[in-house]
Amino acid sequence: MRVSASPRWMMAPVFIGALGWAFESTLPPIHPVLTTEEGQQVAFDRFTWQSRELAKKLDVSEPWPGGEAMRGALKRYGLAEGAPPEAIPVPARITSDIYLVGQDHVSNLTYMIDCGPEGVAIIDPTYESEFERTLANVEKCGRSRKEIHWVVNTHCHVDHAMADKKFRDLGAKIAVHEADAAAIEKGTRVTAYFLVQEDTGKVASFPHCPIDLRLSDGEELRLGNKVFEVIHTPGHTPGSACFLLRSDGKNVLFSGDTVLYDGRLGWQGNPYADNRQYLFSLQKLNNFTLNAAKVQWDLLLPGHGAIAMDKAYLDVQKDLDLVGLLLADGREIPSVPFSLPEYRKHMFGRPAAKLQ
Ligand SMILES: [Zn+2]
Ligand SMILES: [Zn+2]
Repeated sequence: MRVSASPRWMMAPVFIGALGWAFESTLPPIHPVLTTEEGQQVAFDRFTWQSRELAKKLDVSEPWPGGEAMRGALKRYGLAEGAPPEAIPVPARITSDIYLVGQDHVSNLTYMIDCGPEGVAIIDPTYESEFERTLANVEKCGRSRKEIHWVVNTHCHVDHAMADKKFRDLGAKIAVHEADAAAIEKGTRVTAYFLVQEDTGKVASFPHCPIDLRLSDGEELRLGNKVFEVIHTPGHTPGSACFLLRSDGKNVLFSGDTVLYDGRLGWQGNPYADNRQYLFSLQKLNNFTLNAAKVQWDLLLPGHGAIAMDKAYLDVQKDLDLVGLLLADGREIPSVPFSLPEYRKHMFGRPAAKLQ
């Protein structure tokens, strides 16, 4: 044990008499982080890494494999061994005040932001079933569950917002863009249209949760010692929003399902998605300015999959290019791009990502 003025993210703080803060047990930084051929530092989950590597190796004339065929293809190209773990290990420190505290079986990601002595904020708490695990991870980061004073949703979908009510019962204030607020309060078809009861039109299993902070575009959301810029990015849902936070001198983009790593997109197959709006929202992010200065996105902290530790502007640009191309051709927008010939041609010829 040592007495130190180290930033408190490094250690679980314990108050010891007049000595002040003492610290023990380090929390690891996010890992493994690989360097891609684009020079981007990326924390990969296995699905994203394997799909991306296979897209580079599989001949464009071959159909994208599914099920058993996928296992065979991964083996054939030596991608079954040495791949990153299935999920990014959690909890993990992403910056000095942002942590990964949740990642469920379909790769939904939950983040915690240290907002100083006033408490912590959770971004997208995902399913109710993840609640206890998320709390345990918050505590492993050195903060108590009682310090969770805010939950911010990137949008209302069940896989991002279902646990809101449990966190509110714990004392947190719940924030979401005003256009998605009713969906969380009432549990509507927008929340999870596939779970809707035909007789009532409501989602039976979605815990209705009052919204305390209805956000609007351009608003500065002040939570403790942090300021989040609210960027309304409709398209995936009517009230989808992204958040800009400065951390360690970097522009962090909390992007929900609006921007995902390396051309992956939100699921636009739901009946409340609007592809035109989605395109405009991606343009808005790509050209985003704050105080008359263009914002260059550094960290991409999305709702699913891999995390880009730098050069997040690449991912915004790729999503914009892909959606623009597909819409111009009147084609459907797939949430995972790997089977698209454009994606595979674009990737073809790149050297494999190197393990650091
Ligand atoms: Zn969604
Ligand atoms: Zn999602």
